[in-house]
Amino acid sequence: MITIKTQEGIEKMRAADLIVSETLALVAGMLREGVTGLELDAVAEQYIRQQGGVPAFKGYGGFPASLCISINDAVVHGIPSSYAFQSNDMVSVDCGVVLDGYFGDAAYSFAFKEVNEETIQLMKVTKESLYKGIEQARVGNRIGDIGYAIQEYTERQHGYGVVRDLVGHGIGQALHEPPEVPNYGRRGRGLKLKAGMTIAVEPMINMGTRKVRQEKDGWTIKTRDGKPSAHYEHSIAITENGPDILSNHAIIEEKVKNNPNLIDI
Ligand code: MG
Ligand code: MG
Repeated sequence: MITIKTQEGIEKMRAADLIVSETLALVAGMLREGVTGLELDAVAEQYIRQQGGVPAFKGYGGFPASLCISINDAVVHGIPSSYAFQSNDMVSVDCGVVLDGYFGDAAYSFAFKEVNEETIQLMKVTKESLYKGIEQARVGNRIGDIGYAIQEYTERQHGYGVVRDLVGHGIGQALHEPPEVPNYGRRGRGLKLKAGMTIAVEPMINMGTRKVRQEKDGWTIKTRDGKPSAHYEHSIAITENGPDILSNHAIIEEKVKNNPNLIDI
C-alpha cells in the first residue's frame, strides 16, 4: 500500500535523513588510503546511535553492517570489510537510519584522488541524473517520468548502462515501501504522484553493461563486465510546491572539498 505522509511524518523523516547525511559526511572526512570499510562502519554505527537513531541496514534481511560499502565494480550492497582503500578506488557508501519510527536513506559515491577521468565522468553524470529524476517528482507526474529522465540522460545521452535489477523505492515507516522507483521508464506511465508520497530516488549507473551479478557473499551486487558503477541517492517528499529533498548532500560535499584525498565531483 502506498502511504501518504503528513507534514509531521515528513519532518520525522527529515530528522532521520539528517543523521544519515551527517554519517555520510563523517565518512567523507575519514576517507584516506589505508582506511577500511570496517573502520568506517564502526564509526558510523556509533554516531547513529549517539544521535538516538538505529542503523536501518544492520540486521535487515540479515545484512551484517550499518553501511553498504561498494567499491569500483560493486554497484550496491557491499559488506564493509578489512580491505584497505587505495588511491584509485571509487567508493559508494549507502546509509539508512530509523529515528522515532521513520526511516532515512541516502547514498554517495566518493572518488580517491587517482580515480581515472572516465570514472569521474560516470560519477558526475550519475549525480546529475539524480537531480534530473528528482525534478520530475511532481504532483500529477508519474513514476515513469522519473525513470525516463534518468535513463534518457545516462543511457541515451551518455551511453551508460542503467541497472534494471535494482530500483528506488517508497520510504517512510518502513525502509522499503511501494512504489518501486525504477531508473528507467516511459514518460507518462506508471503510478500518478501525489503530495505526501515519500520516495528514495537512487540511480545506479554502470560505465558498461547494465547487467549485474551477485557475489558469493549473498549481498554484493557487481557489474557483469567488471567496469565501474556509481550510485547517488536522496530521500524526497512530493509536495504541492515540488520535490522536497529530505537528505542533505551539501554537508557531505563540504567534507569532500576539504579532504585532500578525494576528488570533488
Ligand atoms: Mg540507500
Ligand atoms: Mg534506498
